[in-house]
Amino acid sequence: EKPDSTMTNKNGMVMKIQTPIRTDSFKSSYDVVGKTLGRGKFAVVKKCVEKSTGKEHAAKYLKKMRRGQDCRSDIIHEIAVLEYAKSNPFVVSLHEVYETTKEMILVLEYAAGGEIFDQCVADETFPERDVIRLTQQILKGVACLHRNNVVHLDLKPQNILLTSSQPLGDIRIVDFGLSRCMDNKEEVREIIGTPEYVAPEVLNYEALSPSTDMWSIGVLTYVMLTGSSPFLGDNKQETFLNISQGNADYSQDVFEGVSSLAIDFIKTLLVQDPRERPSAEDCLAHPWLMGGSKPPTHLHSTLLPSQAEPETSQSESDSEPESPV
Ligand code: ADP
Ligand code: MG
Repeated sequence: EKPDSTMTNKNGMVMKIQTPIRTDSFKSSYDVVGKTLGRGKFAVVKKCVEKSTGKEHAAKYLKKMRRGQDCRSDIIHEIAVLEYAKSNPFVVSLHEVYETTKEMILVLEYAAGGEIFDQCVADETFPERDVIRLTQQILKGVACLHRNNVVHLDLKPQNILLTSSQPLGDIRIVDFGLSRCMDNKEEVREIIGTPEYVAPEVLNYEALSPSTDMWSIGVLTYVMLTGSSPFLGDNKQETFLNISQGNADYSQDVFEGVSSLAIDFIKTLLVQDPRERPSAEDCLAHPWLMGGSKPPTHLHSTLLPSQAEPETSQSESDSEPESPV
């Protein structure tokens, strides 16, 4: 059930979903509890409890009209990708979908640990051994997406959540609002993403590919290890210049106490030419992540379960600092 060209339009958007869309009252089946979990330009995410089971979920409310345009088909695509990713353990799971006149509500698995962003930017950074484990999980999740021709295109610390923070749990990839299905027919070329985290080919309006996600994983790893964003400038122009010149600081004071293998790992990803970047599968075999214990055969068996399937999926654009490029 991976998306193929018969199911997608020329922009790599899937147009059909399997999940039934409920039109009865969301509030009669769920209690909305606590404070808002997150907020984007067109979405609000709230914690809720399913009355019949007592189970916690995250409800993502997506406006159908955005800037005067009907965006229902974008939401359908987001749902479709989540359906494809159903068997991907590192992608948030979709429980139910509701529709009202103005909104669609995606009822998602609740990731109680919140954003990786809050853990590594606000507080002190993760110990390297934790970053190794989290990076392996991100790579396994993304490898599975890529095997199914799905590229996320918005991988960043706000879209990587944790099942718990103390003790540190597992990652869940969310927000498939910008994702695309690439059935290597037509080229996908769009200006999307979040300035700090986008790859050079996005800025240059060149073809996007799974390698575009690999650049973002390089940025993510940099942020998790250092607590700082490698290309962030004082303004958008400066940030774009830093990206297109590959201006990242790899000095000892930024990477204090971090292994040279980790730095090498990041450098292999943050290269300008997308064709030179390793794939997610390649990355899993990098010495930094192989760290003595697991032989490649083991990694292989966990990576290729029987024949993985689906894809991913989730929401939309992020909250604040997300001005589209
Ligand atoms: P947007 O498209 O607006 O960026 P996201 O899907 O990224 O929407 O959700 C916005 C924010 O809401 C996330 O960055 C995260 O903080 C929170 N969030 C989203 N999904 C969940 C979830 N399943 N569990 C807990 N928090 C979530
Ligand atoms: Mg987001």
